[in-house]
Amino acid sequence: MQPERETLPEPALPGHVPCRHSQTPFEARPIRFASIPEACRPSGSSARLEGGHAGGMDAGVPRRYERAVVEMDDDHFHDQCGVFGVFGAKEASNLAYLGLHSLQHRGQEAAGIVSSNGEQLFVHRGMGLVQDVFTADQLDKLPGSSAIGHVRYTTAGGSHIKNAQPLAVDCGHGSIAVAHNGNLTNGLALRHQLERDGSIFASDSDTEVFVHLIARSKAQTMVDRVADALHQVEGAYSLVFLSPDELVAVRDPYGFRPLCLGELDGGYVLASEPPAFQLIGAKYIRDIEPGELVVINKDGLRSVRPFRTDPERRHMCIFEYVYFARPDASFDGISVYDARKRMGRALFEDQPVDADMVVPVPDSGVAAALGYAEAAGIPFELGLIRSHYVGRTFIEPAQSIRHFGVRLKLHPVLSLLEGKRVVVVDDSIVRGTTSRKIVKMIRDAGATEVHLRISSPPTSWPCFYGIDTPTREELIAAHKSVDEVNEYVTADSLGYLSLDGLKRAVGGDGFCSACFSGRYPIPITDELAPRRQLPLVGV
Ligand code: SF4
Repeated sequence: MQPERETLPEPALPGHVPCRHSQTPFEARPIRFASIPEACRPSGSSARLEGGHAGGMDAGVPRRYERAVVEMDDDHFHDQCGVFGVFGAKEASNLAYLGLHSLQHRGQEAAGIVSSNGEQLFVHRGMGLVQDVFTADQLDKLPGSSAIGHVRYTTAGGSHIKNAQPLAVDCGHGSIAVAHNGNLTNGLALRHQLERDGSIFASDSDTEVFVHLIARSKAQTMVDRVADALHQVEGAYSLVFLSPDELVAVRDPYGFRPLCLGELDGGYVLASEPPAFQLIGAKYIRDIEPGELVVINKDGLRSVRPFRTDPERRHMCIFEYVYFARPDASFDGISVYDARKRMGRALFEDQPVDADMVVPVPDSGVAAALGYAEAAGIPFELGLIRSHYVGRTFIEPAQSIRHFGVRLKLHPVLSLLEGKRVVVVDDSIVRGTTSRKIVKMIRDAGATEVHLRISSPPTSWPCFYGIDTPTREELIAAHKSVDEVNEYVTADSLGYLSLDGLKRAVGGDGFCSACFSGRYPIPITDELAPRRQLPLVGV
């Protein structure tokens, strides 16, 4: 029996974009939101800080601890999203749920699924991990044989249900939902233009620009409207769109963010990374190519190429191989695990050192450390053990205990490290704060020498293509030499992999490496716009 669903009035719907415009005769049609009141509830770290408990683990937190919540000192770039799509499969929302689980490393602050039963869309989104956002009951309220899903990472300030995805809108062309991995470099400029023309935005997300542009398009088909919108945006996007009867997936012409295609029992699946397919028993077919748009409906799958594409435009994010992607992922036939091992080998060639053992910073430094140890011919040892039970925030037990985030996550193996010359391999240094603590931890454990080796070049530039990075001022390598960084992290020596070595490890050219080189493949319209504008001079 079809469960009863709640249809809420338009202004109350977070992420329900009122895409009508005074001169655009769009007619409101309700999308059925499966469980909006729960999706709206505050939860996650911000709720804890404000004392707004919503059940679960928040419910029993004593009041005196409310402000004593520390962010784990995770000194990494962060991917902002993972996307998933499925068309023509039984229990599509359950498949999306499992797919999002395997993409959870790409975003932990919000998750959502929109499903279709062929006639209308059903939505559920919430703050937190996939397993916290969805229950079996909620998945039962997302019926149909097609679905798209999204996991999102944000910095604490931007963490809000209104920015959770997929965004779902209802406009004159019908219902449409979208999930986006990436960042538009002209999103702000487009948003300002749309607002000047009368559009009202319901979120801070640049993803909403897509739906406004699609809503305004005069094209006849959904595919043409999507293509119309894409011709106006610049930047990084891997997108999945869902209408009641069609799924559209597209990757930007540079291919910054990955998007892969699989097959499941005659239906199709899409995911940011192929391990999502393995979990649901789907077969990987291929990567969606940069600039390719794929349309899936009852007639099957067809590929459209709305953009000029040539191999020289290709700029997939090289950091996917360094850190973001799961080690069991492969893109275009290049295994992330193998690439990381090659980075370790190249790192030894670039930065050799005499030592007794190679120790990885778990988990992302493991494969590179193996490669380094093999090339150096010295033992690989798990001298640091990671606690898998620490989330992004932790209640500080006493005011007197400070800066213990790293020690909560990593534990030194004293019996291994004492009296040893240790090479520590990590994937990157962003601010340097975590590296400094790790070096001290290993030295305190009795190591006689600590040599830090990094399996990527110095990260000196922020990313504008969908990765959460600190400002340039906060990037330690932007304003310190390698020797000065080493002085800060207090290692006996510090060595980075060269950019050439990194490119060799991932198979050559065709990658964005702007955070290492400062050479951005697409100009940053939004960032430069305020500087171009001259101030008014009073008279
Ligand atoms: S700037 Fe760095 S993190 Fe951003 S897309 Fe390019 S390589 Fe990836």
